[in-house]
Amino acid sequence: MNCFKRSFLVLILIALLLPGCESANTTVNPITSNPWTAYNTKNVIIVVIDGPRFKETWGDPLKIHIPRLANELAPEGINHNRFYNRGATYTTSGLVAITTGTYQWMANDGSEIPFYPSIFQAWLEKSRDNPNKALIVTSKQKLAVLGDCVLPQWRGKFNPMVDAVDRDDKETLVVALQTMKRHHPRMALIHFRGPDMYGHANDWANYIKSINETDQYTYDIWKFLQNDSIYQDVTTLIVTNDHGRHNDGVRDGFINHGDFCEGCMHINLYITGPDFQSNLIADQPREVVDIAPTVAELMGFQYGTSASTVMWELFRNEP
Ligand SMILES: [Zn+2]
Ligand SMILES: [Zn+2]
Repeated sequence: MNCFKRSFLVLILIALLLPGCESANTTVNPITSNPWTAYNTKNVIIVVIDGPRFKETWGDPLKIHIPRLANELAPEGINHNRFYNRGATYTTSGLVAITTGTYQWMANDGSEIPFYPSIFQAWLEKSRDNPNKALIVTSKQKLAVLGDCVLPQWRGKFNPMVDAVDRDDKETLVVALQTMKRHHPRMALIHFRGPDMYGHANDWANYIKSINETDQYTYDIWKFLQNDSIYQDVTTLIVTNDHGRHNDGVRDGFINHGDFCEGCMHINLYITGPDFQSNLIADQPREVVDIAPTVAELMGFQYGTSASTVMWELFRNEP
């Protein structure tokens, strides 16, 4: 199916499934579409590490740059071996694929907001919860665009709390932890920029160092979730990337990204939570757009598109 046709179908489906507050169809059942099981997950936290290659992370047989994920988180969850961004392998497009479950070629400079509502807007529309119950914290100012969308019935409505500043990932971690402690958002996306920034700078040593640092920051978030009385035992943590980088021998290798080479498309997915299997290496091919409907399913609302589906095979009790 070509992209245009796919986008059109997605538009129709979202228009049907996700009516805005002014639509007549506001009675979409907010109860989970999987009624025979009540999920234990009450909160979903998504960590997005910007632009490391699979071969320097989970694809490294020794996984020496991600010791926390490989040694301490892996036994607790799922590490996916065949997870891809098959849309535009740029930052904004990659993040929009995560937050909207659709591939959209976005301007990569923060000048364009996504067409479709994100799972954050959809969640706030369904729950009518306080905006601080959906949170986006990022190390790139341009990603403020993730908070809103073009569709007129959604634009400026049900917007999540967004903290988007060009800053070191360590500062982003502090802000994310402080905000989670204060507001306990039910859904959050935390984005770290390090590997991408140092890759573009052709700085191999700091590229590797930042992979290691964001591994530690992810672990810090996981430990926080485990020890927080509201989050513990009822929170799913998803760790992924917006894109990889060119494989060696493709264009300028690890310095850049943006095409359809294996290095750019092959990304990480790690999931841990009370409704998912543990100590599993998953290999049924999946794509970055499958995150959004999976999160929606956990949170009890439907977020259907023709291009993405719930990753049922990863659940503890597969229907
Ligand atoms: Zn990126
Ligand atoms: Zn590439």
